[in-house]
Amino acid sequence: MPSFPRQRCNHPDDHVHDREAFVREVTEVCAERGLRLTPLRERVLRLVAKATLPVKAYDLMDLLRDGKGPAAPPTVYRALDFLLENGFIHKLESINAYVGCHQPRLPHSVPFLICGECGQAVEMEDERATRLLTEQAQALGFRPLAQTLEVHGRCARCAEPE
Ligand SMILES: [Zn+2]
Ligand SMILES: [Zn+2]
Repeated sequence: MPSFPRQRCNHPDDHVHDREAFVREVTEVCAERGLRLTPLRERVLRLVAKATLPVKAYDLMDLLRDGKGPAAPPTVYRALDFLLENGFIHKLESINAYVGCHQPRLPHSVPFLICGECGQAVEMEDERATRLLTEQAQALGFRPLAQTLEVHGRCARCAEPE
């Protein structure tokens, strides 16, 4: 499981607070929409929320291991699909990892900025880039089925001189 370098984290308590608020919001949305947040789905959600870096499916399988070994891949993928389909988490295709969403209530597709050094992925909470892309695609008669914009580089913290 990826771990965030502690010395770089200014507010460790914020993570805990944010994580609880996030899980609570998803639980509320599920109740409102009549979605079943099964115990496994909730465990997967909590693990994704707890990870400070994008988390890979095989890390989740390992974290969900019971006495018999790691969780079976199909069950974990089904739980991830449920969370993805309902917009509670995002999948970063370029690094094949998952992150919790800041706005689990609103369906959206926004670009991500991914740092190649510390591995942090930041969701750009601005839909203009996505809208422009969709409009341009439509102008060309292209029907996008899926898109995730992922920008790779170095975050401000990692770009700072030591
Ligand atoms: Zn989001
Ligand atoms: Zn970084």
